Amino acid sequence: MAEILNPRAGIGMTSARTRDRMIERLREQGIRDEIVLAAMGMVPRHLFVDQALESRAYEDTALPIGFGQTISNPYIVARMAELARHGENRHGQSLGRVLEIGLGCGYQAAVLGKLAREVVSMERIAALVGRTRVRLRELRINNVKPKHGDGMHGAKDFAPFDAIVIAAAFAEVPQALLAQLADGGRLVMPLGHATQTLCVVERQGDAYTERLHEGVKFVPLLPGVA
Ligand code: SAH
Repeated sequence: MAEILNPRAGIGMTSARTRDRMIERLREQGIRDEIVLAAMGMVPRHLFVDQALESRAYEDTALPIGFGQTISNPYIVARMAELARHGENRHGQSLGRVLEIGLGCGYQAAVLGKLAREVVSMERIAALVGRTRVRLRELRINNVKPKHGDGMHGAKDFAPFDAIVIAAAFAEVPQALLAQLADGGRLVMPLGHATQTLCVVERQGDAYTERLHEGVKFVPLLPGVA
């Protein structure tokens, strides 16, 4: 009945059943962490894209969110969350404070928000921050804090972070961010330019271990704000 009263609650291609099919597909694609799968099932992805694209929200594809930026496909959002929670051991950890660089439409931040106590998410495009802040408020997602700024420098005032997730590609790991990782914390990012690889850096005391995973395709991490 709620679906009839409020169409954006989800009918047809945006229903809970469509979301369940997305979860099944993520499982087939190799996502193993049940906590991550549950988080993906809780966040209504269609409410993070333009209404015109709603019916495609659960497809395995990146979609435009304006300003030449894209929302990552569901698999990559789940995969980065899994890597942020596991590092190299297979026991997922619940996270305290997480830093995301590249808020965009807020979808990935909302998923991370289901896995962490708090998510600080930086975005360099002011207009995107404004729009996403309103959306998060409407959806009553209160533990994601959007911040306008160049994420390359991190968010020193909120450090240390149990995990840092960068949703844009860069040729090297931004050094300022490594210093903001908590002991035992992990940074997950697409490393490279034309060819990109998902990279995880884990901190143990003053030692940092870097591991490369699968190939990916992200928009570039850009300096400065817009
Ligand atoms: N996680 C987002 C994906 C957004 S795409 C989502 O779920 O929608 C990557 C985003 O990173 C873009 O919005 C882009 O503007 C932003 N970005 C690029 N360089 C940045 C920087 N230096 N600091 C902060 N945000 C940046």
